[in-house]
Amino acid sequence: MPRPILATIHTDALRHNLDRARRAALDARVWAVVKANAYGHGIERAYEGLRGADGFALLDLAEAERVRALGWRGPILLLEGVFDARDLELCSRLDLWHTVHCDEQIDMLAAHKTQQPQRVFLKMNSGMNRLGFTPERYRAAWTRLNALPQVDEISLVTHFSDADGPRGIDAQVEAFRRATEDLPGERSIANSAALLRHPSDTRADWVRPGILLYGSAPDFPAHDAAHWQLQPTMTLATRLIGIQELAPGARVGYGSSFEAEQPMRIGIAAVGYADGYPRHADTGTPVLVNGVRTRMVGRVSMDMITVDLTPVPNAGFGSEVVLWGRSAVNGAVLPIDDVARAAGTVGYELMCALALRVPTIVA
Ligand SMILES: *Cc1c(COP(=O)(O)O)cnc(C)c1O
Repeated sequence: MPRPILATIHTDALRHNLDRARRAALDARVWAVVKANAYGHGIERAYEGLRGADGFALLDLAEAERVRALGWRGPILLLEGVFDARDLELCSRLDLWHTVHCDEQIDMLAAHKTQQPQRVFLKMNSGMNRLGFTPERYRAAWTRLNALPQVDEISLVTHFSDADGPRGIDAQVEAFRRATEDLPGERSIANSAALLRHPSDTRADWVRPGILLYGSAPDFPAHDAAHWQLQPTMTLATRLIGIQELAPGARVGYGSSFEAEQPMRIGIAAVGYADGYPRHADTGTPVLVNGVRTRMVGRVSMDMITVDLTPVPNAGFGSEVVLWGRSAVNGAVLPIDDVARAAGTVGYELMCALALRVPTIVA
């Protein structure tokens, strides 16, 4: 028998979360952001739940090919645009829309031989200082693109640095608005956090939710997934493969970092950092055993963790352990954000880090 670890991708939950994005987006069209292999879910595995979107946004050309191979004929957007002039041929062949964020990409387009003008999304750096033209240089880039026979419609796009936090989006929205006021074309500015927290300022023509589709709250811990009515789309579960009875003073795991203060039972669960469980998770990180919330104790090993069975006296060899997601025993939910916080990271990183060795099914 293989190790009892298993990831489950929940199609209904993906559909539910996409619907949640639609309700916030009103008439705006929805890009389902599926970069990083659909945030670790697997593009092919997430597809059924997300195919109700208006388009798929991602950044790896091989992933774009995989979306086309699934039979998707609608829009696909490359969020970072092309990396090399040859990529434009693939854009033509697969009918990919692509972001243009720098002069080098305009140079490549100008040199590209094609009969089929391409749809581009011209990116503004409205303050994040990652990709894009500054507001001062944006118009010149637009004018240059607009003069190219290789270019079809030009859409206008920017990305927020602080849609999830107190700094907010006002300055970026204003910079974008001022620099694009008299330019034609569709607009796209909202990520998940902007769409949920600032919908009326950010809907525009297209919204670009990623993390919310996967049931993690973009502004955790200010709000949690339940607050935004999001459902977990990935369950990572395993089973207990051993039990130890500890006497007071007994220690657990590498480095003996946990010490029992009273007699207690612990369970050994078949999951570790080689499965993508965060090694930085420490004593106290929540887990579900038989659907009951308890805590991890001691250090995360490569293939095992140890959990406190005090609140679950009925647990034994073979009992279900949920690392995040939903318990099949009683339907209880352990939000991935709670686990991420205990490990000093975000839900994004945990889902993206799900290891290849973990067998994954779609439910
Ligand atoms: C990743 C990404 C998104 C989605 O962000 P979330 O925070 O996951 O909603 C939107 N737009 C761009 C340009 C991105 O790179």
